Parts: sequence; structure tokens; C-alpha cells
Amino acid sequence: MIIVLKPNQSQERVDGFVQKLTAAYDVKVNTWVGAHSTVLGLIGDTTVIDDEYIAAQEVVEAVRRVQEPYKKANRKFHPEDTVITLPGGQTIGGGSLALIAGPCSVESEEQICAVAEQVKASGAAFLRGGAFKPRTSPYAFQGMKAEGLELLSKAKKQTGLPIVTEIMSIEHLPLFENVDIIQVGARNMQNFELLKRLGHTDKPILLKRGLANTVEELLMSAEYIMAGGNEQVILCERGIRTYETMTRNTLDISAVPVIKRLSHLPVVVDPSHASGISWLIEPLAISAAAVGADGLIIEVHNDPSHALCDGAQSITPDQFDRLAQKVRRVWDTVQSL
Ligand code: PEP
Ligand code: MN
Repeated sequence: MIIVLKPNQSQERVDGFVQKLTAAYDVKVNTWVGAHSTVLGLIGDTTVIDDEYIAAQEVVEAVRRVQEPYKKANRKFHPEDTVITLPGGQTIGGGSLALIAGPCSVESEEQICAVAEQVKASGAAFLRGGAFKPRTSPYAFQGMKAEGLELLSKAKKQTGLPIVTEIMSIEHLPLFENVDIIQVGARNMQNFELLKRLGHTDKPILLKRGLANTVEELLMSAEYIMAGGNEQVILCERGIRTYETMTRNTLDISAVPVIKRLSHLPVVVDPSHASGISWLIEPLAISAAAVGADGLIIEVHNDPSHALCDGAQSITPDQFDRLAQKVRRVWDTVQSL
């Protein structure tokens, strides 16, 4: 961290400020005295330092970070890829492409079990399905809630596929006992109390990027979970808000290699919410496999035109089957280059 002091500060004030810094933080301070102002260089772990607090100090003109504010999620401190391994042996990260598939929301036992069987046959290793749905309208279908979680458990028992499903409130955590990967949706990416609580669980967390959040903010949200002791975080690029209206969101495909360079955490791509349009799912999934995503999370419905949620972006099990074959070929080809 670099701190530029205001011009013409007395030696006494500069020394006092440096002492304050070394007393409060585990850092060494290098001082450069220029003709008009003094610059301090802080060496050590500056992740715990609040830039705004420093900027508000009377002697300070400007603050600049040269090191990222996240530590546990940072590849610099953990060069090897994190691999999430479930008790059943399924993995996300570390050189394989994980396919997570299933409907936007659980609608009935027949629906979730049928889709689970079909996506499994096409190579999906995880079943997705929302029981608690974050809908823009309070009048829209809100999900089957606890009953939906029970139906997911039935589908898991029938197929052996681990379950990925979204939590919307900390209060619901006791209901998530049989859930294998807890999803934090885009709208809750900065629900810090929820993140902190999930940091004390022992389940992997699939953290989706917020609609209008930067990559650094996503990594800071991962840091919230990891700071509590839960280092099993999977990051998800699911499209962001831009001025483009042709698609529901804009898939930030460059976020995948960017995040993988900055962090050791696995990154999955959700082409369904990124585009909102079923025919776009395959090309976007292929592009995600080509840039090295560790997995895909895709909405698959047995009857998209009657889906209670996100039918327009849902693909059928047959379409998923073709997509899965193509993305595997792309993934294998790119990995072998
Ligand atoms: C979902 O996965 O069903 C969902 C609501 O996603 P997002 O939070 O990315 O909108
Ligand atoms: Mn959805």
C-alpha cells in the first residue's frame, strides 16, 4: 500500500503517523521524502487495512493499493487450484469440467426425478434445482420451499446426484442438511451476514456474481465466506447488467480467465441466466469450456414451455445431451493444446 502525505507536513507529524501505523498493523513502513510531499510504502499484510480509514486521516492526501484486498481467495498466497471434492467423489476444479444441470425450480417429484435421471445419463455430475426462488415479482412462483428440498433429496436418492440449491435466508439453513452445495444467488452476493454464516458451515458454497458487481467484489464476497473458515467456495459467472438488451444479461466471458489468474478457486459459468434464451445456451457453454471454466451450471426442463420459472432459457434433456457432448469435445481439445 502506498500512502501519499499532504504537502509540507512537519517531521513530527510524519513520525507520529508512521508510529500509529506500525502500532496498529503488522507492517514495515518505508519513507520517501520528496521536495514537497512524503510518500509511505507499507510492506506486509495490508489486507486488514481499511483504505477509507487511512484516506480520512488528516495527514493523508491519497492512498493506493498495490496488493489485492483479498487474501484467502488470492492465488498469490495459494498457488495451486482448489479442488472441491464431495463425499461421493464428485469434483469441481483441478482439471475437469463439472456439469451441473436441472430445472430453474423444483416443480414436482415427477419433474425433478425425471430431469435428474436424464441429465445424469448425459454426464451431469450434479443436480441443480431451486426450492427458494428469488423472483423480481412477489406475485410470481416463489418455489416449493421446504417441500422442494425434500423432492431434491428424493431425486438425489434415486440418482446419486449431489444437489446444488439456493439459500435465500440464514433462517433456512437447518433445512439444508441434505444439500451438498449451497448456492448463493446473484442477488445475495453481498448479503454479508448470510456469507459470514455460511463461512461457519462445512458445505461447499457456489457463489454467483451479482448483477452489477465487479470481479474484485465477487472475490471479496468469497473472502467473507473463507474468513469464517469455509474455504470451499466455487465462483460463478452468470452474466452482468450492461446496456445491451438483446440478452437478459451479458456473459462476461473474460471474467473466467481473469478470476482464474487472480484466484485459486474454481469458476463455473451459468449460460442460462447470462443469456435468458435457450438457443444461446449451447454456444455460450462452448465458449465457457474453451476459456477454461471448471464447470457449467445449466437450466434443463422436461417441458420448457410449461416451466413455472425461466422457461425461455431452459433447454430440454435432449438439447442438454447434445450440448454435453460438444462441450466435452471442446474442453478436451483446448486442454490438450
Ligand atoms: C438460479 O440459479 O436459479 C438463479 C436465480 O440465478 P441467479 O442468482 O444467477 O439469478
Ligand atoms: Mn433460473
